[in-house]
Amino acid sequence: MGIYEDFGEEFAAERLTSAEQNEEEAAAEVSLRPEHLEDFTGQEPVKEQLRVAIDAAKLRGESLEHVLLFGPPGLGKTTLSQIIANEMGTNIQITSGPAIEKQGDLLALLTNLGQGDVLFIDEIHRLPKTVVEMLYSAMEDKVIDIFLGKGPSARSIRMPLKSFTLVGATTRAGQLTQPLRARFGHIMRLELYTPAELSKIIKRSAGILGIDIDDEGALELASRSRGTPRIANRLLKRVRDYAQIKGDGKIGLDITRYALEKLDIDRLGLDSIDRRMLTTIIKFYGGGPVGMETLAATIGEESITLEDVYEPYLLQIGFISRTPRGRCCTYLAYEHLGIPMNKEEKKSGQVTAFDGDDQ
Ligand code: ADP
Repeated sequence: MGIYEDFGEEFAAERLTSAEQNEEEAAAEVSLRPEHLEDFTGQEPVKEQLRVAIDAAKLRGESLEHVLLFGPPGLGKTTLSQIIANEMGTNIQITSGPAIEKQGDLLALLTNLGQGDVLFIDEIHRLPKTVVEMLYSAMEDKVIDIFLGKGPSARSIRMPLKSFTLVGATTRAGQLTQPLRARFGHIMRLELYTPAELSKIIKRSAGILGIDIDDEGALELASRSRGTPRIANRLLKRVRDYAQIKGDGKIGLDITRYALEKLDIDRLGLDSIDRRMLTTIIKFYGGGPVGMETLAATIGEESITLEDVYEPYLLQIGFISRTPRGRCCTYLAYEHLGIPMNKEEKKSGQVTAFDGDDQ
């Protein structure tokens, strides 16, 4: 069976540029994860802050203060948490907010940690309220209070914990309670990567996977990866398929362009969902403003997905702007889609390309 039959348009859109991952991909990603800070490309301010904090904690013989990493999916939050454990010379337990359903689940995790270990909680904004409350004393005082019984005979037992570092990751730092945020010693925002940084990441991954790619091919792939290493690695593997079947196995500029066109990813990395988002704002809502919920309902996507996965890149390249009344398309989006702007749209003031990323 030809591999191209698998690449339907929807398939390409859903799988290739969503920064979210499935289980199979998660397993494959393991080999591509850098293990030390030096191998982690980009995010210079984050790396520098971590380097100083890790070295200082090691010097004092203490565990690292709790770290909150926030930013869109696929930018390296899980990878950084593993790097932190490696650099500190400790073990790591990986879990996620939705997986910890009750206090007992957190208790089991915390009591299993060794001295100085890292507990990584992905999607920490999705922890249930009762679990977050238990986390407060665990993070601050390294104790857990367990309440036994109810009414007048109720009593509590205080359980000491070993010193540990919580690394929390979230796409939405604004959804954490203030007391939880306040318990993180380091709060770091991950930014989308530049094409040059992604190109370096692609070449490193190609080296690990034994893929032959030249500079032009790597830069072209990088420019179409929406600033996201997970997408860059995914596209690299798909373009390799094309290079092997349609070319001589090497990835250069031509085969990269050919493959990405087949995969319905345009020269800026936009897929059919991005384009649908933009054209819906323009055609149904006169260029905006339109609220995210309304937009999501019109397109038939989850608003969370649009907001977390699609919007950050569209904001970064200046195609949409966020205003208190909703999202607007900028003239750059009109230009890219080849849609002329009418007089009202020009006048309505939504046309300034950079009128605010008010995230
Ligand atoms: P997140 O937890 O933010 O969703 P991950 O840490 O799982 O993202 O990273 C997704 C993929 O991208 C992994 O395969 C990882 O190896 C790769 N990656 C992310 N950031 C970098 C980086 N700075 N350098 C090299 N590879 C990276």
